Amino acid sequence: MPGFELFGDQEKIQVQDVLDTGVLMRYGFDGMRKGRWKTLELERALSARLGVKYVQMVSSGTAALTVALASAGVGAGDEVILPTFTFVASFESVLAVGAVPVLVDVDDTLTLDPQAVEKAITGKTKVIMPVHMCGSMADLGALSKLCQKYGLLLLEDACQAIGGSYKGKPLGSYGDLGCFSFDYVKTITCGEGGAVVTKHERYHKNADHYSDHGHDHVGNDRGAEDHPFLGYNYRISELNAAVGLAQIARLDEFLSIQKKNFAILREAFSTIPGITFRRVPDGGEESCAFLSFFLPDEAKAKAAHQALGAAGIDGCFYWYDNNWHYYRKWRHLIGKKSLGKLPEEVLNGLPDYDRSDFSKSDYWVGRNLSCLIKLGWGESEVQMRAKTMAGVLRSVLGDR
Ligand SMILES: *Cc1c(COP(=O)(O)O)cnc(C)c1O
Repeated sequence: MPGFELFGDQEKIQVQDVLDTGVLMRYGFDGMRKGRWKTLELERALSARLGVKYVQMVSSGTAALTVALASAGVGAGDEVILPTFTFVASFESVLAVGAVPVLVDVDDTLTLDPQAVEKAITGKTKVIMPVHMCGSMADLGALSKLCQKYGLLLLEDACQAIGGSYKGKPLGSYGDLGCFSFDYVKTITCGEGGAVVTKHERYHKNADHYSDHGHDHVGNDRGAEDHPFLGYNYRISELNAAVGLAQIARLDEFLSIQKKNFAILREAFSTIPGITFRRVPDGGEESCAFLSFFLPDEAKAKAAHQALGAAGIDGCFYWYDNNWHYYRKWRHLIGKKSLGKLPEEVLNGLPDYDRSDFSKSDYWVGRNLSCLIKLGWGESEVQMRAKTMAGVLRSVLGDR
């Protein structure tokens, strides 16, 4: 990750194909487009790759999460359980449909702790939204049991984990709904783009209409189409889809590079006393977009983060202090700072996160470093990097 590192001729050819007809919109203009339907083709390619029947492309990963929630009928006052460690987009999508984001602890998988999830379930809970952060996954088996027990939906935020799998199923395809992002820094990119995947025909139909102003897409005269319910515009453009079409064809190539580079770094760190790796649930296979590991305590993690930076190692994240990925810095959410008035249901329903006890999350995230696995590294570059990093980590841990 990220896929833009390896842009080449395929991306150019696909984009040129769209510019040749000038039809930048995914719907309509049948006569002008000379049979070119990039978004439709990308939906089919994703459906085949992920083994899931329905795919709806949209304008971003945030849009995908929003459309997924709306498609499943999630609305004002409904509660959605999600982790303290994720990108802000996950809770933004919940707020966008007027629902309440209920934050819950993560464990040593760096994703939702199933026990903490069960404790957070109330009569208003509609959805459990695990986020497969940094290329590895939540315990989907345990979470889907909870969904069955309490009659909830399982919605996977797989935006950072395309290519990973759980019990043989691609991440994003296991739950009722799954969402992907193809923004500029993801494993494969459209520039901006996202996808909602589902095995349920009804949710797909809802997503198809909702993401295009409620259009029912019956017939071939857009102006004459009906609007069975309210929608918005979350459409992707053909130009963005064209880039994605070139990139999806290269997903397996990207994943094999990630795996190889990941293995070299992991091997180099595995003999360092005091370093442990994030736990991957049984039956899970990481996408290897990041290598995530723990130091013995918060002070050592901070020191290691600083020392790696000083040694010229880029792309290693200490999420605990990060503005965008961990609840501690989400002052805008915690303080309910919005431009206009939030819905009453959100104002009244949002837990007081200043008083919440997320010490379990702090314990794990406070000791974690996650290092981006790049696609563009050459073999000797990764070896050098592994050696430098291992040296820095050993010295921080006093192992010389
Ligand atoms: C990137 C990302 C999103 C949102 O994707 P955009 O396409 O940037 O809107 C959502 N969730 C997670 C975990 C992400 O990393």
